[in-house]
Amino acid sequence: MKISDILATKQPTLSFEVFPPKTTEVYESVLQATNDIAALKPDFMSVTYGAGGGTRLYTTEIAQNIKNAGVPALAHLTCVGATKEGMKAHLADLKAAGIENILALRGDLPQGVENTDGWEFQHASELVAQIKECGDFCIGGACYPETHPEAKNSAEDIQNLKKKVDAGCSFLTTQMFFDNSIFFNYLYKIREAGIHVPIVAGIMPVTNAKQMERIYKLSQAFLPRRFVNLLDKYGDNPKAMRQAGIAYATDQIIDLLASGINNIHIYTMNKPGNAALLQSSLSEIVPSCKKEA
Ligand code: FAD
Repeated sequence: MKISDILATKQPTLSFEVFPPKTTEVYESVLQATNDIAALKPDFMSVTYGAGGGTRLYTTEIAQNIKNAGVPALAHLTCVGATKEGMKAHLADLKAAGIENILALRGDLPQGVENTDGWEFQHASELVAQIKECGDFCIGGACYPETHPEAKNSAEDIQNLKKKVDAGCSFLTTQMFFDNSIFFNYLYKIREAGIHVPIVAGIMPVTNAKQMERIYKLSQAFLPRRFVNLLDKYGDNPKAMRQAGIAYATDQIIDLLASGINNIHIYTMNKPGNAALLQSSLSEIVPSCKKEA
């Protein structure tokens, strides 16, 4: 099923992100975690591609596995350093594997690389255009409520985002954020700029304090005082931190849903327990979270 069709229903949705194993040795445990998350029957699941130095080998396989479990799957794909020919072959493989949905990304530049002249892909919008040529895929893209770190300013970043959407994105998923007012402000600006595709809000439940350092490095998200207090108070107590982190994420999600933002994507970090806790906190609010008694 295409993600664009799911988002078009105007019902609240909750989807989960997983990442493939970084090494072959942990493949089975990651597969188990993704199966356990798929068993919760979320609205859809996404699978990252080479993020954070991980391998790109298993994205297709895991996405296929999710689809076979009856959950619509979204495969991430990056184009940094790729060739047009290589990408064409990869897209043919995705099509043969029955993948219908792709989150088209540029990917982070390798450390130390500043000059990308001569690279066949410079921006995700070029990947979006190529995917469109290669099949009837539903294509999504990434967006940044706190501005992409390489952009000069928010206005320029939003103009670039518009080019990506015009190239053929049917929806956008946001980078994680911990302050909803930043998201609401951004949404206003992108709608003003003529971007009207559905926006899926990315929420990260922070359930251990160590995770936070890595998250901050990845996203550089603003951390509201209320959130920092929670880390200070419960960071050394894993069980309390988990409870507080899930409560914080739930509170953010309910505020978004109550304000008319229907589509929420959870950076689940391969943790079925956290995904299940979030679903149960939203069981009367998001239809896919309600389980039969
Ligand atoms: P782009 O849309 O190309 O934007 C990158 C920068 O270029 C921005 O500053 C933008 O303003 C600028 N730009 C864009 N178009 C133009 C243009 N035409 N002219 C001039 N400047 C332009 N990384 C992974 O490796 N694997 C993953 O699975 C993954 N999943 C992600 C999922 C989400 C929801 C998000 C938010 C990020 C994800 N990332 C992933 C990280 C992502 O690859 C990085 O943030 C990367 O640095 C930018 O990717 P992009 O697709 O947003 O790039």
